[in-house]
Amino acid sequence: MSKYFSRKPGELKAYVPGEQPRNVQQLIKLNTNESPLPPAPEVIDAVAAAAQKANLYCDPTMFKLREDLASIYGYTPDHFTLGNGSDELLSFAFLAFCNKEIGVAYADITYGFYSVLSRLYATDTKIIPLDAQYCINPYDYSALGRTIFIANPNAPTGIALTRAQIEGVLQANPDNVVVIDQAYVDFGAECAIPLVKKYDNLLVINTFSKSRSFAGGRVGFAVAQPELIANLETIRNSINPYNVNSLSQAAAHAILQHNDYYMQNCSVIAQNRAYLTKQLDALGFTTLPSMTNFVFTRHPAISGEQLYLQLKQRAILVRYFDSPRLRDFCRITIGTREQVDALLDAIRSIL
Ligand code: PMP
Repeated sequence: MSKYFSRKPGELKAYVPGEQPRNVQQLIKLNTNESPLPPAPEVIDAVAAAAQKANLYCDPTMFKLREDLASIYGYTPDHFTLGNGSDELLSFAFLAFCNKEIGVAYADITYGFYSVLSRLYATDTKIIPLDAQYCINPYDYSALGRTIFIANPNAPTGIALTRAQIEGVLQANPDNVVVIDQAYVDFGAECAIPLVKKYDNLLVINTFSKSRSFAGGRVGFAVAQPELIANLETIRNSINPYNVNSLSQAAAHAILQHNDYYMQNCSVIAQNRAYLTKQLDALGFTTLPSMTNFVFTRHPAISGEQLYLQLKQRAILVRYFDSPRLRDFCRITIGTREQVDALLDAIRSIL
């Protein structure tokens, strides 16, 4: 650490992303929940066309995209804003709705970025344990008097709350913002966006990184009633008004026009997930019931770390978390059918 760093030693704990190896062609990469399927060809064309005008700044209001989203979800454009990935929107939400006085609450096992942000922004934090089945118990989230962040479906467990359960949390916390981070919602869970109509304390954060095959393009969107969106806009315009670049804006517009392609891909991923889960079951694994594009699975004969290391030796990357309740598990992104079969062959040889 340099003598110029303004933060105290140990004050921050930066997020550690899953490995992004350089020799990716030689690997089966099932470690960061990307889509194995490419963007629609029209999206690639849209990026190429937008690149021709990259000498100009992008639209800082992202109006076209907010109009697209408004017509898809049945709200006006002032119900939406966009971010450089949903990570950036999560960061804006922390800045807008949490501080030392307005604390934050989230699960002990959930998306690792929440704890990174709560340290960065020095918020007062309450951690709520998952139950014995690795589920969020919505009754633990009653009248907390804090801003609540829930990943739904949760990561890395893959387990989802129903929309009715989310509604229960909203009703039990009428004076606090409830952020539903639904990065994986398109793979089978119930979407919370219809609840925005009824609840002025709901902020729903979404991403194009998973179901829209656009992780590298970095686009996320937030949906809420206009007052909450205006607060996020104040933060966004105080940090980086050009946060979604023109190439990504053009791509996102094309993505929204080719929804059928992406929803079809989601059903392929859901089929591959069911197939992988069944095969893992037959091999003696226990897999949590996933509504996402990954499974969280464990085997009595091998630790998460050992399975991760031995798969890595066979050029297959999965993710393993070195913490007490997660150590037995590996998180495996759902790939193409060919990738899933190669993974299963490798696991059989390891076992
Ligand atoms: N939320 C959850 C639950 C995630 O797993 C991820 C992906 N790591 C994100 C948000 C962030 O995704 P992105 O910034 O790519 O939109």
